Amino acid sequence: MPELPEVECVRRSLEPHLVGRTIARTRVSLPKLARPHPKALRQGLAGRTITDTQRHGKLLILPLSDGAFWTIHLGMTGQLICAPRRPQAKHIHITISFQDHGPRLYFRDLRQFGFMAFCPDRHSLQTGPLASFGPDALKISPQELAQRLAHRRAPIKTLLLDQHILAGVGNIYADEALFRARISPLARPIDLHPQQLLQLHHAIQQTLHEAITRGGSSVRNFVDARGRAGTFQHQHNVYRRTGQPCPRCHTPISRITLGGRSTHFCPHCQAADRG
Ligand SMILES: [Zn+2]
Repeated sequence: MPELPEVECVRRSLEPHLVGRTIARTRVSLPKLARPHPKALRQGLAGRTITDTQRHGKLLILPLSDGAFWTIHLGMTGQLICAPRRPQAKHIHITISFQDHGPRLYFRDLRQFGFMAFCPDRHSLQTGPLASFGPDALKISPQELAQRLAHRRAPIKTLLLDQHILAGVGNIYADEALFRARISPLARPIDLHPQQLLQLHHAIQQTLHEAITRGGSSVRNFVDARGRAGTFQHQHNVYRRTGQPCPRCHTPISRITLGGRSTHFCPHCQAADRG
């Protein structure tokens, strides 16, 4: 699933191709991917100009003329392809064409967990697509993260994946950030020292920034809007490295299932009693 770094790379690669262009037509062949419904998306986008590209967590937000917003969530396998002709690929469910007759935007989604939504104003953006997200993982302050986690009794890894608490971190970057911060994925925030939560904030920022610099992680079939795969998966310290030596202490990396998600960590560097 694309996480914050992958979505940020998609945003950066789309920006020069979309900002300033006026939407002509939206074709939806799979209605459930258009919110609130295909007609609202078609009518809302038609004739509006894209004025900027933004991102909150894993959600792409495209501000439009007249104060409206177009939001795009890539879900598990969503891809945005900007191309003059329809790509030779299955699972293209939404096609956007522009008044300039230039390259179209194609939304491809094999697993169909993504969506596109039209919001007529900021209020409907905040009460709609943004309502279920906490602060963006790159914008949250160390104090706010500590405040949101402190006194919680659930395993820290599970809390990091909760998009209501923090938006943008998923399975890969939660495992990698906890490794950097030397915190066990099973540790409960209530048992952690405040300094450890500050270290965790720093580790999340570092991990996400490095991943963005390397174009994200291409662990499933994620590629960005220009069709380029990221390379950050080659920098992973623990994620999907079960049994391989920890880069710090050479202890074999462990894998457990936590909250239904595979979780990778070094049982020595991230020993539970350290937390
Ligand atoms: Zn280690």
